[in-house]
Amino acid sequence: MFSENTIKQLANYKTPFYYYDLKVLHNTLDEVVKQSQKYNYHVHYAFKANSNKKIIELICNKGLGADCVSGNEVKHAIENGFASQKIVFAGVGKNDDEINYALSQNIFCFNCESIHELQIINELAGKQNKVASIALRINPNVDAHTHQYITTGLEENKFGINPYEFDTVINLIKQLSHIQLIGLHFHIGSQITDLVPFKNLCLKVKQINHYFLNKGFDLAVINVGGGVGINYKEPDKDSIIDFAAYFKVFNDFIELRPQQELHFELGRSIVAQCGSLISKVLYIKNGINTNFAILDAGMTELIRPALYQAFHKIENLTAQIHHLPINQKYDVVGPICESSDCFGKAVELPETKRGDIIAIRSAGAYGEVMSSRYNLRDETRSYYSE
Ligand SMILES: *Cc1c(COP(=O)(O)O)cnc(C)c1O
Repeated sequence: MFSENTIKQLANYKTPFYYYDLKVLHNTLDEVVKQSQKYNYHVHYAFKANSNKKIIELICNKGLGADCVSGNEVKHAIENGFASQKIVFAGVGKNDDEINYALSQNIFCFNCESIHELQIINELAGKQNKVASIALRINPNVDAHTHQYITTGLEENKFGINPYEFDTVINLIKQLSHIQLIGLHFHIGSQITDLVPFKNLCLKVKQINHYFLNKGFDLAVINVGGGVGINYKEPDKDSIIDFAAYFKVFNDFIELRPQQELHFELGRSIVAQCGSLISKVLYIKNGINTNFAILDAGMTELIRPALYQAFHKIENLTAQIHHLPINQKYDVVGPICESSDCFGKAVELPETKRGDIIAIRSAGAYGEVMSSRYNLRDETRSYYSE
């Protein structure tokens, strides 16, 4: 995927840094737009996956809305051109300042996660003489079969309102005059690589949609969140996921009423493949059983492997230029004083030397946004393809 010219260009920058291939992002967005428009679906970009300015600028220009999980994300979206009527705001712990700010900006919808939150939004909206549009985030108890830290749609998770609370919620909503229920919201997890959980979600949504209709709520919006996974093993083979198949599952199984809009919140599937973490080898350390390649990037730049044992493809770009055979194994680690600061164990690589440029692929989502300055590391930098 990296041309020789690109690799030579990358060698000029001080490592480590994120490198974003804006062409990949561009093509991914074109495909999302094309496939979602077949069914008039609305796609919001999940800001938390990557809020790098150039990236959100491009996403905004392609006409997507924004899915935010903090007041600052709402602010960042508005300041970078997203129309407030295309912003949804989720999160289990929205504080008063965040709610007040979002109310003042007249965002499209609050995705509410608890009965208590409904009461607080009603109270704060009342003080601003407003009626807040809300969708109930519902915990549909659908197993996403993904890593336990990124599954969100099971009863044991902290997210959403459970079906046994529906009657209480409905009675409450009828009494609260500063909120208006406009929809139902779901999000079952992340990095879901099989379409079956989405089909199961559709079947649950269909039931719950019926339930609310029977209670007198003909809701305009159904929001099914995001979570569709990408191919971390072979980023060049599947640089764009099969969005046609993904949206088709919803069209086939969800059964909307005529005026109902279907909304999505996609993060990873839009931005993951356009980003790589670029680093240099500092040292090679040969052990008895294991050889270590010690990089100048660590969990401070990309925490996913340390946090959820995530796999990222690792490539030695310098060796690629010289067409060296892949015939060695290294534990590829960072410089941070934590044993979990490891990008991969027994990674198959060409013979690797100090100064070689290493790419850690598919790092565009939940990479730069989660970077930290632990160990007083430098702030994370980024560069872009032309
Ligand atoms: C994180 C999140 C998303 C995006 O998930 P991806 O797996 O990145 O597509 C969507 N909706 C909500 C509510 C989220 O918290």
